[in-house]
Amino acid sequence: MYPASFEYHRVASVEEAVGLLARHKDDAKLLAGGHSLIPMMKLRLAQPKHLIDIGRLTGLSGIREEGGHFVIGALTTHYAVESSARVRQKCVMLSEAAAMIGDPQVRNYGTIGGSLAHADPAADWPAVVLALGAELRAVGPKGARTIKAEDFFKDLFTTALGPEEVLTEVRIPIGGHGGAAYMKHPHPASRFAVVGVAAAVALDGAGKCTSAHVGITGVGSKAVRAKGVEAALTGKVLDAATIGAAAQKAADGIDINADLQGSVEYKAHLTRVYTRRALERAVERAKGAK
Ligand SMILES: Cc1cc2nc3c(=O)[nH]c(=O)nc-3n(C[C@H](O)[C@H](O)[C@H](O)COP(=O)(O)OP(=O)(O)OC[C@H]3O[C@@H](n4cnc5c(N)ncnc54)[C@H](O)[C@@H]3O)c2cc1C
Repeated sequence: MYPASFEYHRVASVEEAVGLLARHKDDAKLLAGGHSLIPMMKLRLAQPKHLIDIGRLTGLSGIREEGGHFVIGALTTHYAVESSARVRQKCVMLSEAAAMIGDPQVRNYGTIGGSLAHADPAADWPAVVLALGAELRAVGPKGARTIKAEDFFKDLFTTALGPEEVLTEVRIPIGGHGGAAYMKHPHPASRFAVVGVAAAVALDGAGKCTSAHVGITGVGSKAVRAKGVEAALTGKVLDAATIGAAAQKAADGIDINADLQGSVEYKAHLTRVYTRRALERAVERAKGAK
């Protein structure tokens, strides 16, 4: 199917993109990797009159280390994250999650910024940035601002980004998580998350949990932190019984959507199972000092 006709703009800077967004408002959409927007345009679920292509802004792609953070440009592809040796060495969950996205074509075109801005309820990155306490940087007509991952996802396909803002980078603290892991039950065709759980735990010298962050995607209208699970872990020695009991709270408070992939009960069960598995792996990694 062909998309509705539109005017194509290839911009040379973030400022130019912001200017076009401000001029065309709801009639405009940014184009990054195109792997969510183009299918939506072909299905006519999105019909922007102006398509603003930011895909060649080289300043927005790449991964660097700065002040104890990985700074990942919004246009960095999933594959670039997956294949970064430094990322794998210092925060293996990031490369692990990237490697589980879609197929090689999707990973080579799709971008981390596009995925976060799109906020598909079954996308993988939202759970990961929630668990790692990431911050997202956006530039708009009034300048730049930083948004905590926790405040970013508002609803189905809805984020804290304003209509005239461009997401420019994701800042992820390195270390301090102890161990982190992402586990996912993928849709058999698209590989999107039926449920995806990102867990990050830190342990003290006696093996007690000093902090726990759990992000869950796939089952509700947006990715969320599982605060009940986190509270049930913090301050405790994370043995199998404690992890198992905490994981039982994983679906609490999530408005789970029943769909062709399963009933509410089935998805709640998957959420608990994948939370336990992600926590077990994160704790193993924390004990191995990663
Ligand atoms: C077959 C298939 C399988 C997939 N499987 C998975 C999967 O398993 N897991 C997963 O997480 N995802 C999956 N995806 C989605 C994929 O990861 C997309 O690449 C991603 O969701 C969007 O990134 P993009 O760069 O392609 O964005 P685009 O499609 O270009 O844009 C998406 C939306 O974000 C906006 N946008 C893009 N960049 C910015 C920016 N910098 N600032 C503000 N707004 C911006 C656009 O205007 C648009 O509304 C799959 C996609 C396909 C086609």
